Amino acid sequence: MMDTTDTGVTARLEAKANKRAYTPVFKTADIMNQHNILVLNCGSSSLKFALIDPTSGEQPIAGLAERLGESLASISYKYQGKKVSLALPDADHQQACARIVELLRELDLEQVIGAIGHRVVHGGERFKESTRIDSQVIDAISDCQSLAPLHNPANLTGIRVAQHHYPDKPHVAVFDTSFHQSMPSEAYLYAIPYELYEQHGVRRYGFHGTSYRYVSQQAIERLQLNPQDNALLCAHLGNGSSAAAIRNGNSVDTTMGLTPLEGLVMGTRSGNVDPNLYDFLADQCGYSLQQTSRMLNKESGLLGVSGLSNDMRTLEQAESEGDERARLAINIYVFTLARQLAGLATSLGRLDALVFTGGIGENSSRIRQAVCDRLSILGLALDRQRNDSNGNQHKGIISADDSPHILVINTNEELMIARDTSALTTTA
Ligand code: AMP
Repeated sequence: MMDTTDTGVTARLEAKANKRAYTPVFKTADIMNQHNILVLNCGSSSLKFALIDPTSGEQPIAGLAERLGESLASISYKYQGKKVSLALPDADHQQACARIVELLRELDLEQVIGAIGHRVVHGGERFKESTRIDSQVIDAISDCQSLAPLHNPANLTGIRVAQHHYPDKPHVAVFDTSFHQSMPSEAYLYAIPYELYEQHGVRRYGFHGTSYRYVSQQAIERLQLNPQDNALLCAHLGNGSSAAAIRNGNSVDTTMGLTPLEGLVMGTRSGNVDPNLYDFLADQCGYSLQQTSRMLNKESGLLGVSGLSNDMRTLEQAESEGDERARLAINIYVFTLARQLAGLATSLGRLDALVFTGGIGENSSRIRQAVCDRLSILGLALDRQRNDSNGNQHKGIISADDSPHILVINTNEELMIARDTSALTTTA
């Protein structure tokens, strides 16, 4: 499924076939900033990439390799306003990453890469902020693999392949967990024997930290809040969903825990359940540990309840057509989210703003309305019209005048990774 609008690559291939010189459509001199950051975000079965100017936020190229490891694996990217899709049958992370390196070379973009920023899901307690990558950092990320078995190995593959191809460029790791390292011990410890924390790091870590950093900074700027004295609730609602309480730019509580399974109802993840479920299902249904884990991570949440889809758009559509299970799944999602946001608010003392982000938070006025209706106890009230337009034209503000602020802010984790990488690799 090659799209022949891929002018650069196609022109290069044609030139090769006709044995004539190839002149790139895009000249690297067009990119003024020679310190663009290549951001690599390896998910469990996908790989997002973007070349980003950390100052302007412009992205000369951005793309996504998905369904990695499957026969339908593919890569698509946007370059010079055109979208290109290529099949990469059965490609794994390593092959997809190598293809991206090749693509950047073909498009003559390699020379404008100043540094590479890698998203790393789990940094354990070791990483309280982003860091330059060396062999000790790689070992420490490896040590966290048992805490994020689906993600950290993929993150490490991205780092190794990129280091192999760009050995002379600096590489930086930006962790999902590090933002939440500011949580106090009562928020991060489980009430289980303390030795499990001391000896095995069993504690709550929290995730989506890069997104929370971005949207909380945006909220402070847009609302002109005092950076030293503000109180925010943020809900990152995507396929994976979580929420966080953020006081003066620091995370003080969040819903995800040791792993990204804890907390809210998600696309396919259950969020909180009674941990005795493992015993119950073993006794009653003969489930192994792995079967229950798989069920809770992959077959639960919106998908498990609705029996239809993990995708909120599909469920909203089905609900509007009278599908009872879709309605039930949405109701449980909303109930759980409102209950947990109210609980998070107890760590704030007061509430300046509630921020919605992620695919659902940014786009679903239906979910935002239902959640805010349940949160009238916090004085929250929406302006219906502003909510229906996702806050467009109002700096994202969707609250009624007499409510604490409620905002929709489109997250930009890639820009945050690019900025951290730039800050750690450019000398003043
Ligand atoms: P993310 O993981 O952040 O990409 O978010 C994915 C989720 O956002 C999926 O459940 C989508 O159905 C949901 N989503 C995206 N656009 C909309 C929309 N317009 N209305 C409702 N849900 C949406």
